[in-house]
Amino acid sequence: MRISMVSEHASPLATLGGVDAGGQNVHVAALSSALAARGHTVTVYTRRDDAALPERVPLCEGVEVVQVDAGPALPVPKDDLLPFMGEFGRRLATYWRQDPPDVVHSHFWMSGLAALDAAERVAADTGARPPVIHTFHALGVVKRRHQGKEDTSPPEREALEPRVGREADTVVATCSDEAFELIPLGVPSSRISVVPCGVDTELFTPDGPAEPKGRRFRIMTVGRLVPRKGVGSTISALALLARTGRDDIELVVIGGSRGAEDVFDDPDVQRLRDHARAEGVDHLVSFRGQVPHGRLPAALRSADLVVCAPWYEPFGIVPLEAMASGVPVVATAVGGLIDTVVHGATGLHVPPRDPDAIAHAVQALLGDTEQLAELGRGGVRRARTRYTWARVAADTERVYAGLAAARRPAARRATGGARG
Ligand code: UDP
Repeated sequence: MRISMVSEHASPLATLGGVDAGGQNVHVAALSSALAARGHTVTVYTRRDDAALPERVPLCEGVEVVQVDAGPALPVPKDDLLPFMGEFGRRLATYWRQDPPDVVHSHFWMSGLAALDAAERVAADTGARPPVIHTFHALGVVKRRHQGKEDTSPPEREALEPRVGREADTVVATCSDEAFELIPLGVPSSRISVVPCGVDTELFTPDGPAEPKGRRFRIMTVGRLVPRKGVGSTISALALLARTGRDDIELVVIGGSRGAEDVFDDPDVQRLRDHARAEGVDHLVSFRGQVPHGRLPAALRSADLVVCAPWYEPFGIVPLEAMASGVPVVATAVGGLIDTVVHGATGLHVPPRDPDAIAHAVQALLGDTEQLAELGRGGVRRARTRYTWARVAADTERVYAGLAAARRPAARRATGGARG
């Protein structure tokens, strides 16, 4: 199949860990590569945010990234991108008239808008509308519930996002919790498929070099440092443990908008450092800033535990990366983490925004090295059997194939009509 991925803000070429670059970038890059490995040709359309990049950049064999001119060729926060989606859609339609895709897979609500608009434009010209499969990656309705006034999404999202869900041919939810959220938005359950995100089980393995560490137990968090990721709860949990006399646990925080050299210029790091100071544990917390993806496995292997404590989480690839590396995960029981982390088998679940529960889970696991090792092995097994990108690509391909097959007669009729 000729597959068009649309990912307006999350380019597979981006550096990970900053404010708007995380799991969606990983997902689009890895899914595209895994589909190409199955013999498909994939083009990823993303908004140009760098004037110096060529229009087309190969990602790997069978995958090309196209920088679409829409708005300034500069990084723009994703919540400010809506005004450029009309232009993005018009340009997509131009690409698709020249190079018609068999299926379109859009990622994030704004890509869905642009993709549906472009598909209609192509249909109006050629009589054949490519099927649009959509993955939300995050839902505005959930974000608003948790962030309230702090939510910086444009107000139009409230009405436009459900429309994307209703007009897409299929919505691929990445976890069962998301599927439940989609129904009240008016997306018929018959058009929802659940296919999770995956993890690179060749990169993230339990065996291999590990970063050196001192005598303390090491707990680790990895990811963007926006408040909803809950790193503050983990710092508070560390403080609770320190107050019980445990100064044998350190916390390593990976992620943010800066690298190690200027990590304290990152406002999120400043906020978290102030929090650690106020809690009296700044000597036990180190901020690494962004760590290149390829260096994460060695960092993860140095951890006794990874804590993922978001208030909510559309999917969350980091817990899978930890599991694949053989590291047990203490995770809040929210969103995708309900499906990926199995309480008592690959880690422990805790309620969100509950430092006390995190402290108890950490205390229990660090005190039982046998259970720690067993949960680590359980994580590796689960990641390798359920969450390889090869399996995710095969499941996604089935969704595509169903739609492409269903559309073929209509497209032939349309072509026949035009010829006749
Ligand atoms: N990541 C990284 N380096 C960093 C911080 C994060 O490579 O310094 C990667 C991380 O390994 C994961 C992704 O960014 O693959 C974050 O994805 P996740 O789904 O956990 O969270 P999101 O950022 O999408 O909310």
